[in-house]
Amino acid sequence: MNLHLDHDSHTPLYEQIASQVRALIAADRIRVGDRLPPSRVLAGELKVHRTTISNAYAELEADGLIGPHVGRGTFVTARPAAAEPARAAPDAGLPPLFWEALMVEEPHTDRLHEFHQYPSRPDTISFAYALPDSDMFPLEAIRRSVDRVFRKEGPSLLQLGERLGYEPLRKYLAGRMRASGILRADDEILITNGCQQSLDLIDRTLVASGDAVAIENPTYPGALSVFLRKDTRVIGVPVSERGVEIAALEEVLAHQRVKLIYSVPNFQNPTGVTLQVAERRRLIQLARRYRVPIIEDDIYGDLHFDGPALPPLKALDQDGLVIYSSSISKMGFPGLRIGWVVAPRPLVERLSVRKQSCDLHANLLAQATIYELARQGLLEKHLKRIRKTYAERRDAMLQALEEHFPGEACWRKPSGGMAIWVELPDGIDASALLDVAKEGGVIFSPGAHFYVGPPRANTMRLTFTTTGIPQIREGVRRLGAALKRIMKSHRARGNGTPQPGRRNAALV
Ligand code: PMP
Repeated sequence: MNLHLDHDSHTPLYEQIASQVRALIAADRIRVGDRLPPSRVLAGELKVHRTTISNAYAELEADGLIGPHVGRGTFVTARPAAAEPARAAPDAGLPPLFWEALMVEEPHTDRLHEFHQYPSRPDTISFAYALPDSDMFPLEAIRRSVDRVFRKEGPSLLQLGERLGYEPLRKYLAGRMRASGILRADDEILITNGCQQSLDLIDRTLVASGDAVAIENPTYPGALSVFLRKDTRVIGVPVSERGVEIAALEEVLAHQRVKLIYSVPNFQNPTGVTLQVAERRRLIQLARRYRVPIIEDDIYGDLHFDGPALPPLKALDQDGLVIYSSSISKMGFPGLRIGWVVAPRPLVERLSVRKQSCDLHANLLAQATIYELARQGLLEKHLKRIRKTYAERRDAMLQALEEHFPGEACWRKPSGGMAIWVELPDGIDASALLDVAKEGGVIFSPGAHFYVGPPRANTMRLTFTTTGIPQIREGVRRLGAALKRIMKSHRARGNGTPQPGRRNAALV
């Protein structure tokens, strides 16, 4: 039960609990016949004394709302009468407003929120987040760009602007998108506050209650935050070493009505795999045949280390089926919150109206600053620099894994992006490894965060972009040692030898 206690309030805690449970019953969030948590359990959750819960339950029982069943627990027996007034605390006027009962819908499964919650010591080596290295930000160049645009056009940057985005940046991005075959007409591009907002806008615009969305599994938790609503069917499609499994997707499309496909074809988050060209063509053919649009999330597309980028899905799409989305978050600066969507004109129009009702338009100063950096060639220069550094870090991490991880663990070299996906031997839980690793000052993301439905608990994502090479080596050494310890105690508990590894095999 989601209850919130105000320990500073004049209203006694048992009354706060009773009035919140009463409100939950009134709002049908707890139904007649539902069992309430045992007082010991709820006392533990709320960190209050058990008698506080007993007193709250006694109040509710006196109101005729709940009743005990010998040996089975306490159950809701009735709803409060509709007109029953809220009980006022005797000494403090009205009880605090219970917001949860007023909210119109359950929160989304908040995967992003859960994901950004690893507390860690300041000296912890982090492989947990797919972020740029803050030490590589070209601070001086950005400061000069801000200065210059402010001197040149300060008043208009502080004024409300165009809903589709800051015109010079739109033109610049349009040029870039045209060069890679993504954009055909200039009015097919909308500037947003990043890919996350683009996904949210697309979802609100195209996905209705009861619709199904096909999504790579595992996938980016922020996409799950958007699509995993209680009234959307999210269908996970497995990913292999060549990207999303086209045959499995076809099976889904052939048997279910799917509204949208979500894919990250380049250096997929979390697995790092890239959808191969033949599979890209097959994916477009499938979308054509079943008339299902694809969201192509290309946020990592510019971070290619081993040769030029493969053609984007959008460039292979002759029928306007692909909604292309990217941002500057991975090539540079996630805090500036700038992304863009390229889509057929009617959709861009509707997305921009949605965006307008949400936040009018993206921040003009941030857009102008990025445009200024780009105009001077500094964005490209920065991109070249990070590509080189991140590629070196990836190689250092691969080498360290080779040195320190047991032979039974598997991983694959990503040809770009920010992370390496590791599969541990069967039976080894990456969350248990994280608990041990944290003690040793290393964190990473267990694979469980990225799955639609039941996760593969023996998977983990290691990002290599935020730490220098010496820390990568040290962090992987510590992780390897922790893993070997866990495997040893796993065997000692009589769980047998973990499956022999297929080192560097495609296991996702
Ligand atoms: N898509 C993917 C695949 C991502 O990995 C991320 C960020 N980790 C996002 C979208 C969100 O990015 P943005 O900062 O552009 O909103």
